[in-house]
Amino acid sequence: MTKPTQHIATENSCRALNRRTLFKLGSGALLATVGQGLAPKAAKAATSSLSPDQVLDSLMAGNQRFVTHHEQHPHISMERISELAKGQHPIATILSCADSRVPAELLFDMGLGDLFNVRVAGNIVTPEILASIEYAVELLETPVLMVLGHERCGAVTAAVQQQKVPGHISDFIDEILPAVNQVKDQPGDPIDNAVRANVDRQIQVLLKQSDLVRNRQTNGQVKVLGARYDLDAGAVTLL
Ligand SMILES: [Zn+2]
Repeated sequence: MTKPTQHIATENSCRALNRRTLFKLGSGALLATVGQGLAPKAAKAATSSLSPDQVLDSLMAGNQRFVTHHEQHPHISMERISELAKGQHPIATILSCADSRVPAELLFDMGLGDLFNVRVAGNIVTPEILASIEYAVELLETPVLMVLGHERCGAVTAAVQQQKVPGHISDFIDEILPAVNQVKDQPGDPIDNAVRANVDRQIQVLLKQSDLVRNRQTNGQVKVLGARYDLDAGAVTLL
C-alpha cells in the first residue's frame, strides 16, 4: 500500500486546531477528543496527498492480500507507534458493523493509524456516529468514506425477521427497518438484500444530514461509497 508521509504537528498549529475544533465541536466535544488522543488538524497534509482513488486502490489491494493469505501486517512496529504518538493521519473513514468478524484493519491488511473506524451494530448513522464521521472526514480529511455492511449481519437479520429483543437492542432495529421495507418484495435472499439496501440507505442518510460530508464529496475531496464483506470468502465487494 502507499505509505502516508509522516507530518509532525507544530505547537502553533496544534493551538490553531484547538481553536478551530473548539469552534466546530464545542468545548465538551473538544475535551473528549483530546482525551481520546484524536489527532490535530495539522496532520491533514499527509492524508490529503493521496487521492480518493489511490486510497481505494490501497484498501482493495489490502483485502486481496487478506483473502489470499498474503498479508503484510503493516504499521504495527514500535517505530509506527512512536510516529502515531505525534498525530494520526488515517487514509479512510470506515463505518462498519460492531460484529467481531468485521475488523477493518484485518480485512484490509492495514495497521495502526491507517483507518478511522466507526463501528456500531448494523452500521447505522446515529447523531453520535455522524459526529465521529464528520470529525474524520472534515478535520482529518480522509479521502475515502466507506460504509461497510456484511453478510449475515445479526442486526439486519433481527430487523428482517422482526425479532423480539430485550433492552435497548430494538433501537438499531428501528434504524434498519426502512431499508428492509425497501427490498421486502425483491427476489433473492431477504437478509442479504437488506444488508445491501441498509448500506445504501445509511449513505443517503449521512449525505442528507451532513453538509460537511456532502460538500467535500461535491468538491472531490472525499469518495463516499458502500461495500459488503463476505463472511465466507473474506472478500470486500464495492456496491
Ligand atoms: Zn452486523
